[in-house]
Amino acid sequence: MSGLEQFKDRNVSQNYYKVKIEPYPKTGWEKFKRVVKRSIKLELFVGLKITLMEMLRFNIHTIQYPKEKLPIGPRYRAVHKLLRLLESGTERCIGCGLCEKICIANCIRIDTKVDEFGRKIPTEYTINFGRCIFCGYCAEVCPELAIVHGQDYENASEQRAHFALKEDMLTPLDKLKEQKEYPGFGAPTPAADKLIKKTPLAY
Ligand code: SF4
Ligand code: SF4
Repeated sequence: MSGLEQFKDRNVSQNYYKVKIEPYPKTGWEKFKRVVKRSIKLELFVGLKITLMEMLRFNIHTIQYPKEKLPIGPRYRAVHKLLRLLESGTERCIGCGLCEKICIANCIRIDTKVDEFGRKIPTEYTINFGRCIFCGYCAEVCPELAIVHGQDYENASEQRAHFALKEDMLTPLDKLKEQKEYPGFGAPTPAADKLIKKTPLAY
């Protein structure tokens, strides 16, 4: 069975085993006998032995954060990024307002204007990370793949109202060449071309 199939298989009845439960002692004498029996069997030391064996194996399961960090999944929903068009450096956002409308935490605010070419552009774009629940709806709904979730999850702040401004999230122009087509939440999956046979608008 493949890994995924194994995960989907919720039939765990094959793995049941019977736990032997002793009758609960009722009288004082029975309780005393159970204490003596457990002490003689040294059950406490069985637990300590397991702990000691784990220690001697030096099998350390903790990580030294923030020096060490666990890898996160490519579709992890961390702090947002605003992307630019690679060809021209123009901001991808067209100020449609869909992300602002769909945001269930009501934490996106956009101001827009129409530029000299008649194109709607955002003049202000803020997300209040004190309210954002990182649901990913904004990235999912964006028709331009302009807003995506990045991988930067350390967004603790001393301020209760912690805003991210457009400048914080937008790719700087001098780093445009380093901007990668982000595989994160809201972006098409690598196999999207194969999966999409026909766009819904084609018929
Ligand atoms: S991730 Fe969800 S809560 Fe956060 S800004 Fe986007 S839509 Fe709003
Ligand atoms: S949905 Fe995308 S294009 Fe529309 S305003 Fe939001 S970020 Fe900009």
